[in-house]
Amino acid sequence: MASPLDTLLQQQLAALDAVHRRRRLRPVSWADGVLRDAGGRALVDASSNDYLGLSRHPLVTARAAEWAQRHGAGAPASRLITGTREITLAVEEKLAAFKGCEAALLFSSGFQANATVIPALAGVMGSADGKVGAGDTANATAIFSDALNHASIVHGCRVARSKTQVFRHNDLQHLDDLLRQHAGRKLILTESVFSMDGDRADLPALVRLAERHGAALYVDEAHASGVLGPQGRGLAAECGGADIVMGTLGKAFGAFGAYVAGSRALIDWLVNGCPGFIYTTALPPAVLGAVDAALDLVPGMDAERARLAQNAQRLRAALALRKHDTLGSTTQIVPAVIGSEADALAAARRLEDAGILAVAIRPPTVPDGTSRLRFALGSHLDDAAMDRLLAAVGEL
Ligand SMILES: *Cc1c(COP(=O)(O)O)cnc(C)c1O
Repeated sequence: MASPLDTLLQQQLAALDAVHRRRRLRPVSWADGVLRDAGGRALVDASSNDYLGLSRHPLVTARAAEWAQRHGAGAPASRLITGTREITLAVEEKLAAFKGCEAALLFSSGFQANATVIPALAGVMGSADGKVGAGDTANATAIFSDALNHASIVHGCRVARSKTQVFRHNDLQHLDDLLRQHAGRKLILTESVFSMDGDRADLPALVRLAERHGAALYVDEAHASGVLGPQGRGLAAECGGADIVMGTLGKAFGAFGAYVAGSRALIDWLVNGCPGFIYTTALPPAVLGAVDAALDLVPGMDAERARLAQNAQRLRAALALRKHDTLGSTTQIVPAVIGSEADALAAARRLEDAGILAVAIRPPTVPDGTSRLRFALGSHLDDAAMDRLLAAVGEL
């Protein structure tokens, strides 16, 4: 007999099934750097975020293994208890230098960072005496969030006790209008590269706008870190002026986790005021080792970054030839808007038949009627792999 809870959950799943929106986990393998489906067939990976191939780089995997051997598999505690090893602080210093910031702080994941740093900051900004969550109306903080911001940012906004205003995607005039109407403190949230459309925020203009309105600017560099900006330092590195720069270490860095970089005051305050930092176990040594090695490698990978940009350019050109809208993509993330969910799923299936893994992205992740194939390319896709991908795209 199913429990009442299971009965409820089964009803929900059946409702998703009925509209073809039930998601399922599909097993793949990644042995020896080759992506294979459950049947063992090799696929061209056009969907992962391992943009520079670092998750399989020998220096990265060797240092992960070495640090695990030397320091243990797990972290023994949260950072404020006994989880702050010298290697943790050394990696944070290296990250701060990489981002050109005074300080940096590691988080367990990008989701955790956005989901907890945003409400913590909004809370302290909304109080006269700095007590988290003590929102007094005179200083009421408002959050201004781009319409295409990642689910983890949306989650952070929902948890925050401040009012969130969503501005139209990359529409700085709209943002300006909204900022003008708010007298209290202001926090602007944006990604530097948007995860679904592959376009960029105009960070220099956002920095100027934030300055003009006395707003704090929070930039999520999940898809730019390691890939864009001078030596892959991200787009915020190019213009300076963002107050909070967040990025992830599980994408181009090939490891796991996330960081927040900014002023010494920001980082010292987060150590005291951010529950998602305080009440969680420190990152394990293997992850720290992988991040440390990636930080040694990333600045010197201009050739890989050029290769990645060229792969994306070739794909956009092929899609344009077939009259597929690639939205504003100028990065390694390239959408091909298909329209209906059924057509997007069918296109993904056809690519898979041709040996290409490119996933269909559907509502609720993207708006209705804009179901799409979302390609996320890597510098490790060589000419042969790209030729196969472009040939399959040509058949769509
Ligand atoms: C992937 C992603 C995150 C979440 O990072 P994880 O480390 O995978 O939890 C946050 N923001 C954006 C824009 C992302 O694409």
